[in-house]
Amino acid sequence: MEVESGTFLPGEDDYTRELFTVLFSGSNGTRPVPETLKEEAVRRMSEARQKGMTQPIIDLFAWLRDLKISQDLTPEQLGIEREELRSLAQKHREIDEHGVTVGGRLTRALPIVEMANSRVADYLRRKDEEAPSGIELWDRIGENIFRIREMLGMTEADWNSFQGQLKFAINSAEELARVISLPEDALRDLKVVTKHYRMRLTPYYASLIMPGKVNDPVLIQSVPTREMIDNAGVEIPPVAADHSPARLVDQFYPRVLTIKATNMCAMYCTHCLRIAHIGKKDRIYSREAYREALDYIRGNPRIRDVLVTGGDAFILPNDMIDWLLKELDAIDHVKVKRLGTRIPVTCPQRVDEELLDILEVSNEIKPLRVVTQVNTAQEITPVSKDAFRRISGRVSAVLNQAVLLKGINDTPVKMWKLCEILQEAYIRPYYVFNCSFRNPQFSHLRVPVEVGRDIIEGMYGNISGDAIPRYIATAGGKIPLHRDNLVRHENGKVILRKPWSGEEVAYPDADREIYAKEDYAFARYQGNTD
Ligand SMILES: *Cc1c(COP(=O)(O)O)cnc(C)c1O
Ligand code: SF4
Repeated sequence: MEVESGTFLPGEDDYTRELFTVLFSGSNGTRPVPETLKEEAVRRMSEARQKGMTQPIIDLFAWLRDLKISQDLTPEQLGIEREELRSLAQKHREIDEHGVTVGGRLTRALPIVEMANSRVADYLRRKDEEAPSGIELWDRIGENIFRIREMLGMTEADWNSFQGQLKFAINSAEELARVISLPEDALRDLKVVTKHYRMRLTPYYASLIMPGKVNDPVLIQSVPTREMIDNAGVEIPPVAADHSPARLVDQFYPRVLTIKATNMCAMYCTHCLRIAHIGKKDRIYSREAYREALDYIRGNPRIRDVLVTGGDAFILPNDMIDWLLKELDAIDHVKVKRLGTRIPVTCPQRVDEELLDILEVSNEIKPLRVVTQVNTAQEITPVSKDAFRRISGRVSAVLNQAVLLKGINDTPVKMWKLCEILQEAYIRPYYVFNCSFRNPQFSHLRVPVEVGRDIIEGMYGNISGDAIPRYIATAGGKIPLHRDNLVRHENGKVILRKPWSGEEVAYPDADREIYAKEDYAFARYQGNTD
């Protein structure tokens, strides 16, 4: 039971006292009050006296406050006595489980929520228009699917299988032109570019492209343009040897490394950071290559986290994934594994029960995460969401690594929407990479570092904390690019900045002297127990 201090009446606190001061200030009670208002006062009073409800009390006080501010009418002029309101304020505090006062709720908490709401009003108005998800676009995607299936002569079984999606994959400018109408000159350039850079779209991924939309976010991720050659010529830069201490292995951290288990993907991205590994031709790697990579891991007991990537790990046949995971699980010092794959996005038909069972068995032995890449809400469709739902039920986490790309996710509306839809699709936004300088082929898709900082910083306090990714530059390792919200130190306090409003708050720091003490908690009893 809380004991009220002497100067406070039950139901009161500073906020409530202030509220009463506002309600009962000034007016002399001589102005005529319309009967309708008096009747409303009676009605609201009786509602507020209802048993066990707080909302009618809040509504009453809010109404009275508005009348006072807008028309200078006091409760007394409406026939409501101060004592009656006092007892309602007391009742509010008594029935609220957490003892919240009328004044606290009305003058503090509700305005805080209103302020918060105003920060996302613009986003809520624009998100479905500017950044529609594949779920919202599903009807139009359905029309695309129908058209593409017809043009390619695919049966429904072809469409719904990984083999069908790969067999009918769109690999050339001519094939693409059959299913998507492109401007003449774009098509002409595409024929040139695809001589040097790989293009492949699964029919499913092609169906996510919205016809007629200039720079559709799925189109520019998958269909190369002339800029690739203009930016960088036709030579793909050689693989950076400095990160590969052993065959198939990339390592620059002590505890985690990657195995590039394949150079193939179901779809080739125009912004591929691994363009050098991907090369120009699909290649199958030998068991010897895998064995050497595994030997390197076995010989390095510091390695505890192994990321199997590519290319795309899910391009490997199920028995190969199974074998690799079993080999990794058999290494004592390997404690956690990751599979890097974009296939649930580019070809969700791949996610079959056999694969899911393999993932689950391995996850039961040691945690297995799936790391994917979704760059726009448009890539999350009912089908890919379902694939992610099924995967997420079998592994310890599904994480997303997006690349910040011009026109695709480089506004707050687009990025917030992406991160929210990811979370709704059972995926945890993990990283957003600033698109690297390293591969000049896609410099036309790069976004300045500060633009990304504004976008990510703007998410704090406005969307769920666990939908906020970390913003990273890749430059010989992943380097965080986040803003520092610690402004300065001042008299034992740190001055922090609220990312959503810029407001500074003083946060008392832990006392260094107290922190230095060894005799704390149970250590203080040592003398007594000897
Ligand atoms: C990205 C990456 C990792 C994993 O980094 P995390 O921050 O642990 O996700 C490890 N090795 C290489 C070579 C990488 O590129
Ligand atoms: S899925 Fe990954 S590795 Fe494959 S093309 Fe896209 S970015 Fe490159």
